[in-house]
Amino acid sequence: MHILVINCGSSSIKADVIDHYSGHRAASMDVERLGSTNPLFRFNGHREELEDGTDHGEALAIALPKLLDYLPDDVTIRGVGHRVVHGGDRFTRPVRITEEVEQAIEAVSDLAPLHNPINLAGIRAARKVLPDVGHVAVFDTAFHATLPTRARAYALPQELADQADLRRYGFHGISHGYVAQRAAEFLRADLRDLRLITCHLGNGASVCAVEYGRSIETSMGLTPLEGLVMGTRSGDVDPGILIHLMRNHDYDVDSLDRLLNQDSGLAGLSGRGNDMRDILEQAAQGDDRCRLAIQVFSHRLRKYIGAYAAVMGGVDAVVFTAGIGENSAIIRHRVAQRLDFLGAHLDEDKNRDTQVDDDQPVAMISTPTSRTHLLAVRTDESHAIAADVSQLLLEHDQLSGERPIPVAVSARHAHLRQETVEALFGEGYELTPRNDLSQPGQWAAEETVRVIGPRNEIASVRILGPTRAIDQLEISRTDEFHLGIDAPVRASGDVDNTPGIILEGPEGRVELEKGVICAWRHIHMTPDDAAHFGVDDRDVVEVAISGGERDLVFGDVLVRVSPNFKLEMHIDTDEANAANLGRDARGTLVCTEGMASLRRRKTTYDPITQAAQ
Ligand code: ADP
Repeated sequence: MHILVINCGSSSIKADVIDHYSGHRAASMDVERLGSTNPLFRFNGHREELEDGTDHGEALAIALPKLLDYLPDDVTIRGVGHRVVHGGDRFTRPVRITEEVEQAIEAVSDLAPLHNPINLAGIRAARKVLPDVGHVAVFDTAFHATLPTRARAYALPQELADQADLRRYGFHGISHGYVAQRAAEFLRADLRDLRLITCHLGNGASVCAVEYGRSIETSMGLTPLEGLVMGTRSGDVDPGILIHLMRNHDYDVDSLDRLLNQDSGLAGLSGRGNDMRDILEQAAQGDDRCRLAIQVFSHRLRKYIGAYAAVMGGVDAVVFTAGIGENSAIIRHRVAQRLDFLGAHLDEDKNRDTQVDDDQPVAMISTPTSRTHLLAVRTDESHAIAADVSQLLLEHDQLSGERPIPVAVSARHAHLRQETVEALFGEGYELTPRNDLSQPGQWAAEETVRVIGPRNEIASVRILGPTRAIDQLEISRTDEFHLGIDAPVRASGDVDNTPGIILEGPEGRVELEKGVICAWRHIHMTPDDAAHFGVDDRDVVEVAISGGERDLVFGDVLVRVSPNFKLEMHIDTDEANAANLGRDARGTLVCTEGMASLRRRKTTYDPITQAAQ
């Protein structure tokens, strides 16, 4: 599914037409120098000048139609994602944009006066150019909606804090959430089992404590000024400095704003600009101010890492990302060199030789014995936004009933080889079709078999046709207990290391050596369905079910894709009974991150422990 992702900065716009799943770009566009002289836009080799003073809305109105014309015929934009810096208290997850949502974004603009109005201009212009697709706002603050109150509150009078909405929001959430997920995938772990510290070190910089998948502390606060040393922003300063400057050095609101946001940070310390590459180069040549800038930058970050490890009571991995975190081995080295007390040991060779890129987006830079992993992870906020947009639109499609998934209850049954059929029913015996099943070409036979287990027997188990290349008996957990065997949860056809059983027919008995499984709940679908849902064969997804006595979600549902299938989810009788499902039960595919991660890392799934291997 291709999503147009638009990111409006103060004087620039970046737009990508991006595959929500792979992150592959079908086209990318840059608009630069907006609001000043000689603005221009570029995409894939095309370059065009805009009139001086062109604003964000005007630039998008001109550039977007040209970008869309350029797209190959097989690329259709299914949705548009807009990065919005501040969601205030109202927006704690991506939201489909309506007039009312636009107004709400406008209402929180006071909290991000430099960003939200520009984001909104982008939204309005893009909605005019693409009125027929869903537009979604994805907020930089949303990932931090889980900050506990103690991390959110400033120690100011509560009445004032309430009245003036003074609280810590945190930013860079799209990036922190994305790299945390990528790190978990790389470590073959569930994000919900990990304590991570993610360090986003770009021109703006922030650090986040991601405890079991949730942001519980982050270094930016009400505005993106608090915390780490940044390109031109000071990060933490004693607030007394502001009072002192106003009282004794003629500073007012505007000059303080400029001081803290534009003239401080690496630029202020080094006197050589805000680009870390230049600062590192000058420092290597002996520039003392640049050395100091690097020391303060690294020290501040190390201080935060120690603090966040304490806040979480431990840490499994520290993640470095964005321009500096991804590219600067020196800064990673400086930050990590005193983290031994956390059990984090940098592998100096790997750190030096590592270059994360599109082909290798994650790299381990700690030693094999390091208890706390150190990782460099390439961030991709556009990809994260595209994934959020596709999920939201998918949920919307599903909720609006565009492609509901019928749910069928699969009773115990046997698939047999022709040879087994003949052993049970006599030489040359052919099964007799009784009625067609929902999956094309499949039928229930007239014939049944008796299943004989170590403890008990089950009579009249239906045989399904046509005959297959392997024998397989699919039963429920309750059947297993009744028969006295322990069958694993498996996908159909996957019968290695499964128990055998005795089958009895009118003409004989067959002792199967293997083939008894408890069928993994699954969805049959066609390649077209799979493309619609954005899933692949063998993905594991969640399905929300309605139509029973109560709504519920089935996790761990296996996707099976074949041109011969018809869209249908199969659950066994135990599950159907437990859920008390009606005949008209319908499922809604929930596109989980877990699913995407399983696919990305091509995990094999251990059906017994139900864990990814
Ligand atoms: P933004 O916040 O603008 O998206 P980026 O994530 O692109 O910023 O990061 C910009 C920062 O990354 C700059 O300070 C730049 O100098 C730094 N950077 C990029 N490449 C390197 C490198 N190889 N070594 C050190 N710093 C780098």
